[in-house]
Amino acid sequence: MKKIPLYLQIIIGMILGIIFGIIAVVFKFDSFVADWVKPWGTIFISLLKLIAIPLIFVSLIKGITSLSDISKLSRIGLKTVSWYLFTTVIAITIGLLIVNTINPGKYFSEDKRIEFQQKYSERIEVKQQAATEHKKKGPLQFVVDIVPENIFAASADNSKMLQVIFFAILLGIAMLSIKNKNVEVVRDFFEGFNDIILKIIDYIMKIAPLGVFALLAALIVDFTDGDIVEAKDLFIALGIYSLSVVLGILVMIFVFYPILLKFVAKQNIVEFFKAILPAQLMAFSTSSSAATLPVTMECCEKKLKIPEEYSGFVLPVGATVNMDGTSMYQAIAAVFIAQVYGMDLDLMQQLTIVLTATLASIGAAAVPGAGIIMLVIVLNSIGVPVEGIALIMAVDRILDMMRTTVNVTGDSTIATIIYKSENK
Ligand code: ASP
Repeated sequence: MKKIPLYLQIIIGMILGIIFGIIAVVFKFDSFVADWVKPWGTIFISLLKLIAIPLIFVSLIKGITSLSDISKLSRIGLKTVSWYLFTTVIAITIGLLIVNTINPGKYFSEDKRIEFQQKYSERIEVKQQAATEHKKKGPLQFVVDIVPENIFAASADNSKMLQVIFFAILLGIAMLSIKNKNVEVVRDFFEGFNDIILKIIDYIMKIAPLGVFALLAALIVDFTDGDIVEAKDLFIALGIYSLSVVLGILVMIFVFYPILLKFVAKQNIVEFFKAILPAQLMAFSTSSSAATLPVTMECCEKKLKIPEEYSGFVLPVGATVNMDGTSMYQAIAAVFIAQVYGMDLDLMQQLTIVLTATLASIGAAAVPGAGIIMLVIVLNSIGVPVEGIALIMAVDRILDMMRTTVNVTGDSTIATIIYKSENK
């Protein structure tokens, strides 16, 4: 029998998970899903996170040491960062154009606003606190945060991936600049280590269909809170806002990236999307670019044939700092909330959104729900009441899945561009 390809297995897992979740809610065995199904989804995500730090570390070192010299590294580094910034700013601009045209906040009634605020008031405080801690620090704090004082402490915390990246780059550069036998041994060691990690990822991917089944079944149960009718109401109330975000996401995936791929990278678009589909599905199911990284790397290396010297550098950095979907969503959400409160944002405030949403998306951790925490910073910067995130909380989980898919697509697009630009 012909083996079903991975992406199909994942799609089947997703669909069955959704159906199972709905059946569980309708027939009221949702607690069974919470107790017996959800844990498998959690285990699957834990496995992906478990491998993320070793993968980032080893692939960066391998990527850097396979470059011929340091000048090539700095060239690729500069290019990568510039492309990442460019796509983020474009994403925010697209978001602003959409939200200012559709004006989703104008469709949201005063009654609904009060109702939502009461309902979600507790959850907001938690998010607000997390964001205040972020903000309390000075303007240069984010640079300070990149440099770890202890590499083991940094590796022990998944939110410190930038610190691990910093150390890996440092180590890679040092290894690249010493050419002797002893360092050769270390290089071989990392090469072997890399193969081992890729093997572990193979194992994890074998249970991916099951993992996404469990994740989506649990998600349906959590989202509906046992009541499908109420979930439907929430969706309708937030429909135009959600549609604005979805529209932005579609523009990014089906217009913006294809243009870059076709005209800048000269890459066959269908081939590209076929290759990265498993990564997109994984991003959608896990809502975490970091957890998806192993799959993104596999798709780019095996299917798009991007050599590790590029993918090993561009993708781990991208998963951590390049979040086009998140930044675009933050722009739409900020303007939506302002509109609901009857505030009209002037050009200066919209430009502030471009700046803060860029920083907020860079600072957002590559985990579920990070985008909405950083949204607090964007709202603060333009003087929109932070309580407003109560309005969008109900649909955030779903939108998170979609924006993470954009984040991962963006990383893969830039990896392709960088590779092609170096190999004309
Ligand atoms: N979940 C997103 C990611 O990991 C971040 C976010 O927007 O919440 O890419």
